[in-house]
Amino acid sequence: MPFHTVLLAACLGATNSAAETASTKLPQIRAMWVARWDITTPDECSTLVRLAEQYGFNTLVVQVRGRGDALYKSSYEPRCELLKGQPDDFDPLGTILEQAKRAGIAVHAWINANYTWDSENPPSSPEHIVNKHPDWLMRDEDNKIVMTAARDAEGAYTCPSNQAFQEFLKNVYLDVATRYDVDGVHFDFIRYPSPRFCYCDRCLQLFKTQMDERIMPERRKELANTQDRLTYPRAFPREWDKFRREQVTSLVYRVYDAVKAVRPQVIVSAAVFPDYSDAFSRRFQDWKKWLKDEKLDMLFPMSYVKSTERLAELVEDAVRSSNGKPVVAGIGAWQIPPEQAVEQVRKACELGAAGYCLFSYSITKKGTDTDYLKKVSEAVVNNP
Ligand SMILES: [Zn+2]
Repeated sequence: MPFHTVLLAACLGATNSAAETASTKLPQIRAMWVARWDITTPDECSTLVRLAEQYGFNTLVVQVRGRGDALYKSSYEPRCELLKGQPDDFDPLGTILEQAKRAGIAVHAWINANYTWDSENPPSSPEHIVNKHPDWLMRDEDNKIVMTAARDAEGAYTCPSNQAFQEFLKNVYLDVATRYDVDGVHFDFIRYPSPRFCYCDRCLQLFKTQMDERIMPERRKELANTQDRLTYPRAFPREWDKFRREQVTSLVYRVYDAVKAVRPQVIVSAAVFPDYSDAFSRRFQDWKKWLKDEKLDMLFPMSYVKSTERLAELVEDAVRSSNGKPVVAGIGAWQIPPEQAVEQVRKACELGAAGYCLFSYSITKKGTDTDYLKKVSEAVVNNP
């Protein structure tokens, strides 16, 4: 039985085999996030799978859509520019999947949802969203698109109130889930960058229409007398935040339902801001609702904190709110020593997490420094 099936069966209350019971202390999910810059050649892909196997990882969450581009054979988006110079038939996701399957390692396709670009220089492909559909990009309060990392955004995001974009992104997830034998698809950047977005004309108009149906004619008249394009968000700040949460939520549900309709066995998961109040009020990312409504199969809180006590609070809240779905604790490996990662893994599992996911494989410096993986593996995998 593939590992994730065992896990889901366990969650449904099925009986584990004796072998599985004997290793109950071994975290069920032992994962790493693998960023796109670490899988840009066939050798890098092979090294990744070899090291994952050697150090007892059973799940790889591999970034195949970084900035509106693809590290797989996409039917919709241009090839990631990091793959320039590689043979045309090199397919990072396909290569990793083939080798990981042989090693018994699950592969989840990590797909950035809204984050689309992060440079003043536009993408070279005319097919890229930034070039082809600039009207899909989020706008700030001044009606400006932000292209590079700034205080309130990491770069350009796509606006989820746009149905054409929602349909497009759904197709991107479906493309991966149906054409590749992935064990899961993984949302990241499924949110707004900050409360300063999105104030595009479409969002403002949709919100105004919604509110006009709810308010008295006198109030409508009063608001119509102001010339400010931000009148409605300013007049109804709570409803405006709710409106934004609903846009992200509807995008998640659309993708979830579409993937489940064609490949119900594919696990749909999300990397989320671990502090729910921050996620809810500042990113409009209502992950507790998604779990409650059964529109996520697995949650990866990005609990990247140095303090194990703080990690415990975050993981405890996620487990409590998970509606029985597995919670995989995100460990900020880049900023803590391996001994502390081990302490955090143990704490998370003690609190009911199904496992851990190291952020990220980049700690190995493209596989040349395996000390971190070795130390985590010796403590967690070989000596649970
Ligand atoms: Zn918008």
